[in-house]
Amino acid sequence: MTKRLWSFSIVCLLVTSCGAPLTKPFQDQSSTQHSTPDVAQTSLEASRDLVESPFVTDASGTKRLSMLPPASTPSASALPTAPTRAPSPTSTPNLKPKINPKRSVAPPEASKRPSLPVQKNQGQVRISQKKLSLSQLVVKYPDTFKLRGSSQEKKVALTFDDGPDTRFTPKVLDALKANQVKATFFVLGAMANMHPDVIKRIANEGHVIGNHSYSHENLPKLSVDKFQNQIESTETILQNLIGYAPRLIRPPYGAINEEQVKWIANHHYLIVNWNVDSLDWKSLNSDQVLHNIMQQTKPGSIILQHSGGADSQDLSGTVQAIGPLITKLKAAGYTFVTVPELLHVTKSK
Ligand SMILES: [Zn+2]
Repeated sequence: MTKRLWSFSIVCLLVTSCGAPLTKPFQDQSSTQHSTPDVAQTSLEASRDLVESPFVTDASGTKRLSMLPPASTPSASALPTAPTRAPSPTSTPNLKPKINPKRSVAPPEASKRPSLPVQKNQGQVRISQKKLSLSQLVVKYPDTFKLRGSSQEKKVALTFDDGPDTRFTPKVLDALKANQVKATFFVLGAMANMHPDVIKRIANEGHVIGNHSYSHENLPKLSVDKFQNQIESTETILQNLIGYAPRLIRPPYGAINEEQVKWIANHHYLIVNWNVDSLDWKSLNSDQVLHNIMQQTKPGSIILQHSGGADSQDLSGTVQAIGPLITKLKAAGYTFVTVPELLHVTKSK
């Protein structure tokens, strides 16, 4: 019973989301986006990502991801917010991650200070200067932290996170092939281990692969070693499958701290988040997915969708929206490119 409770609670976190829980309706976000100047917009986008991050859920101490860390990473110590009980021995690295979309949503305010240490005094100003927000990190490290491409070119990049799986990823690939569009897949090392043929198919069909960590941990919560292991173990797996070490990293939930940004910069990676969130992880139907994307997309957009998720998640809407989305955006004058093409960078390190 305890194990079941724990499994349920830890799973509440992931949902898929890289983009995760929405604490406010999409319409509110989009309505403020379009007329915002670039710099302010970057800030706004990053702020939204922060709101969507799972920190709050973590802070409850009862929710986290169900995917297991790399073999070299002891599970218990990698899960600082997990209950005192260690993961069940029945969990193995080859088990399919369970992702539960029914995550609890905490107040945005709380999520804005996820990584602030609890201090004895109320030196809030000093503390907030120490820990930069995602929006501050984007501004401080513009060459390393990307949310979108140039607004001067009418190009967009479709991105698909949390795969590969055998349930939705092949259908996403079929839809992309039918529409002759290349996309970017941010994959998990654990899932790549389970479905190497799907990874190879993604690469063989001309799509770009990026690193989405090994087991979808909330990276800012990890020690330096464990963070690096999440990136490097995935890189090794991918290198063996596709022949290159991906330069692009998308942290789960878009969440990352400054130390980690510095490490990424020093190791010649790029962090690629997004500025358009389809919210498809909520098992939306295709009309809803399409609506969400069309409302937010503008030149240079990086669009977040998913090609994998929890058993309870239905990404049929994602798959079905791909064709109409491409048709509509092409009719509006957009062309589809991979993230490296959009950002004018290499796909490999
Ligand atoms: Zn993700």
